[in-house]
Amino acid sequence: MGIEAHRLDGIGTTIFAEMSALAVRTGSVNLGQGFPDEDGPSAMLEAAVEALRGGRNQYPPGHGTPELLDAVIAHQQRHYGLTLDRHQVVATTGATEAIAGALLGLVDPGDEVVVLEPYYDSYVAMIQMAGGVRRPVTLRAPDFRLDLDELAAAITPRTRLILLNTPHNPTGTVLTRAELEGVAAVAIEHDLIVVTDEVYEHLTFEEPHVPLATLPGMFERTLTISSAGKTFSVTGWKVGWASGPEHLVAAVEGVKNWLSYSSGAPLQPAVAVGLNEHDAFHVALAADLRAKRDVLCDGLADLGLTVHRPAGTYFVTTDVSSYGFADGRAFCAALPEKAGVVAIPSQVFYDDLDEGRHLVRWAFCKRLEVIEEGLGRLRAGLKN
Ligand SMILES: *Cc1c(COP(=O)(O)O)cnc(C)c1O
Repeated sequence: MGIEAHRLDGIGTTIFAEMSALAVRTGSVNLGQGFPDEDGPSAMLEAAVEALRGGRNQYPPGHGTPELLDAVIAHQQRHYGLTLDRHQVVATTGATEAIAGALLGLVDPGDEVVVLEPYYDSYVAMIQMAGGVRRPVTLRAPDFRLDLDELAAAITPRTRLILLNTPHNPTGTVLTRAELEGVAAVAIEHDLIVVTDEVYEHLTFEEPHVPLATLPGMFERTLTISSAGKTFSVTGWKVGWASGPEHLVAAVEGVKNWLSYSSGAPLQPAVAVGLNEHDAFHVALAADLRAKRDVLCDGLADLGLTVHRPAGTYFVTTDVSSYGFADGRAFCAALPEKAGVVAIPSQVFYDDLDEGRHLVRWAFCKRLEVIEEGLGRLRAGLKN
């Protein structure tokens, strides 16, 4: 029996920590957790060192250092034509704290949160800690598209907000403009807030990402979350931000003040350097990931797995039932011993187990030789 408060009931530790520890323990190739094994732009790393040596080591302003706020503002203007002021951006300790701030700051006990399923696991934890009720709308294999009728049907008088994620982890779906217009229509009709997690905004392989906040009538009801982690391959930095109308940003800040108060002083100006000077990095990173996606997808398909090729993110989903495994959890539990590879059972991202039981998520944000090594081990281990 634990001594934790009930708000933690059933939450447990994150699957990513569990599977990464398993990878280390078994000497497996880790195609589970989505962290790159290469660094971000060197000028950005140098800027962080310079800030550390230059005395930027005390509490920065709670809502973010001016350089970072201005860099986010310039980024949103340059890439998306969105005009923001400094009250419309708050820096957070990763996108994770922005998600926590949004849910704790906007959701009252009993409020319903409509969320795409499969969902990123921190959404579940934070909806529960806020006392909210999650109402999943399922993206279904093989295409994982958003069914707008199902979205509309999930809205009730208790719905407080829609929590969107595009490009979507774990499916790799990038919502189209038409789908986003459908979301916008529902949000406007029911006067709802939309919190949109766009941490993979630059990691798309076919069509560019469309921020929901750019759609007509949506800026004033949309809180957009992003982070340096995925954009610049520095997932350990934990520098994120939320942007949108001042009243939504203030809700995040109101929580953030009491969670961390402020975030990574020397890292914020370095992320500003990345945002201001490294648009070319986004293009190169997306091209690199696209090539790695193809290597991993082709390799997994050659093994006889049914592959759902993603249009963005770090991840590909496979159906392992075609391989004789009805249960992805059993498949992932056996995989380290059988093949020396770790992957993530997607069922942990579902309420509706029938939709996710047979699905497994693989990460391709790894050096090519790591992906090749993983595939080689799978070829040897799965054959027998
Ligand atoms: C990685 C990830 C996050 C967390 O971002 P941090 O900046 O590391 O906190 C949030 N949302 C999604 C969908 C992610 O994949």
